[in-house]
Amino acid sequence: MHVLVIGSGGREHALCWGVARSPLATRLSCCPGNGGIANLAECVDIGVENFDDIVAYCHQEKVEFVIVGPEVPLVAGLVDQLEQEGVLAFGPSQRAAILEGSKVFTKTLCRKHNIPTAAYDVFQDIDLARTYILDRGAPIVVKANGLAAGKGAIVCETTDEALVVAENVLGGQFGEAGSEIVVEQFLVGEEASFFALCDGRNALPLATAQDHKAAFDNDKGPNTGGMGAYSPAPVMSEEMCQKTMERIILPTMRAMEQDGRPFKGLLYAGLMITDRGPQLIEYNVRFGDPECQVLLARWQSDPLAALLAAAKGQLAGYEVTWSQRAALTVVMAAKGYPGDYVKGSEIKGITAAEAEIGVSVLHAGTVREGQRLLANGGRVLGVTAQGVDIREARDRAYQGVDAIDWPGGFCRRDIGWRALDRDK
Ligand code: AMP
Repeated sequence: MHVLVIGSGGREHALCWGVARSPLATRLSCCPGNGGIANLAECVDIGVENFDDIVAYCHQEKVEFVIVGPEVPLVAGLVDQLEQEGVLAFGPSQRAAILEGSKVFTKTLCRKHNIPTAAYDVFQDIDLARTYILDRGAPIVVKANGLAAGKGAIVCETTDEALVVAENVLGGQFGEAGSEIVVEQFLVGEEASFFALCDGRNALPLATAQDHKAAFDNDKGPNTGGMGAYSPAPVMSEEMCQKTMERIILPTMRAMEQDGRPFKGLLYAGLMITDRGPQLIEYNVRFGDPECQVLLARWQSDPLAALLAAAKGQLAGYEVTWSQRAALTVVMAAKGYPGDYVKGSEIKGITAAEAEIGVSVLHAGTVREGQRLLANGGRVLGVTAQGVDIREARDRAYQGVDAIDWPGGFCRRDIGWRALDRDK
């Protein structure tokens, strides 16, 4: 089977890594890919938003299965277009991808179906938002309704800050994505990610994982796309996973099916584990990065077979097996990220890093120029390691990091601290 992966980040490198080891895949391509993916797949220079060229490539090269990584083409309807053209694809339709594309849609669904989430209201009008914010007090969270490249949710420590943020977002800071805002209660607890593979009707929970969003050690600094992750996540006990399935994932699946938008693909719930149990912070309709890297490291059965079963509506009774070992990823980012950063600095030492036991280096933002490997994004590498437990995986991952020679980069030195603190 010729498989095509869409995207160019660490998530897509991890997906290619999973597909490449499947006996079902005889050929693997990636649009557009990156400097690391090029070692596993044929990288094709077509952008993820160029649907017509993607479809043409599928026909020309007889692609039989497409795995769509990022949210933007999903929300814009790439899976619908592929399926109309007779190409099987993994990912939700445009009508189902609205779970990530519109926070107002998701919050309304939660309210209607009693799915636990922060108390909220929706505003298009700044005067009404102001009254609500002053009435509720801080801390409080302001969110743009639409996609805003992960920057559209702002936790505000004071009401003054919330008023300024609400004004800016409604005033066009994120363009059309902020023409409506959700203002919601600040939830207290530990954050966790929950992933389920879905086939429109059935949902199959995957292994647990947790990421670190803050840029710097001790969870300080601005929010990022993720500076590291580990699996399993001790906060997601079996009981917590069961509650998440019963109270959040399964009611969502039923509601989407009833609404004529069955959800197929990967449903990723961002959770806050509170003293009243799991609460939904947000849905994503695709794998998260770097969590995808630790999940694929522990995925023991054939990942491609599982994604195919989801796309074909055949998940009933399906099982995925996981390695008992732990996995941990340390993200290496360009200095300055998540603010302004410089592209083009040279990275050396990847081979030395991968010579460390249990270490794989996945690329999130790199490009090859002749023999040289250059940084080409904010988050650039994911150094992923496995070990008997989180501690061993962490020690190995940092041995890998220390073997990489990249003066233009930085990483957090405390990935996994929450899990390790629990053992004390
Ligand atoms: P989102 O884009 O909705 O996942 O929000 C980004 C980040 O903001 C989350 O990962 C949380 O750290 C934080 N956040 C969002 N909503 C809330 C909330 N209601 N209470 C506390 N933190 C939140």
